[in-house]
Amino acid sequence: MKRNGNIQNEFKLNVPALSINEGICRAAVGAFVSGLNPTLEELADIKCALSEAVTNCIVHAYRQGTDEQVGEIYIAVTCYCDRRVKITVRDEGCGIEDIEAARAPLFTTASSEERSGMGFSVMEHFTDKVRIWSVPNRGTKITLLKQLRG
Ligand code: ATP
Ligand code: MG
Repeated sequence: MKRNGNIQNEFKLNVPALSINEGICRAAVGAFVSGLNPTLEELADIKCALSEAVTNCIVHAYRQGTDEQVGEIYIAVTCYCDRRVKITVRDEGCGIEDIEAARAPLFTTASSEERSGMGFSVMEHFTDKVRIWSVPNRGTKITLLKQLRG
């Protein structure tokens, strides 16, 4: 793969959307980002935001699917030379009908499962920018951007 000169390193991970993989993704992405010598706080922020994104794929994306097969989660982490970190989390699940509504604090379509509707708010709090693309019945892609200091 040809790499843009501004990119220092990249990491990709695909896992089935199983609960057990939330912790595995968190640990794997955390290990990769650790190589950039982030502060402990920056590392914790990234892991926390990533967990919310991955959990959303597991809990929401494939819920309405008719397949017996578990869907896939695609994660890509890109580290730029200026110490920006971009994390992409993508699924091919049910998608989001109204992205602006989904972003709002306390909005959830899974209140019966005791979800609090705070996942996107947490991602926004712990990163510099959250972008969401989604097409109903096709899937969702989110990117989390974080500028590391130092
Ligand atoms: P919490 O994260 O607090 O447990 P939640 O997951 O419902 O609750 P958010 O993470 O903020 O809250 O997500 C808001 C809503 O956006 C979800 O209830 C769901 O309807 C939708 N959503 C989020 N991610 C996805 C996804 N990957 N696929 C489909 N729908 C999603
Ligand atoms: Mg959530």
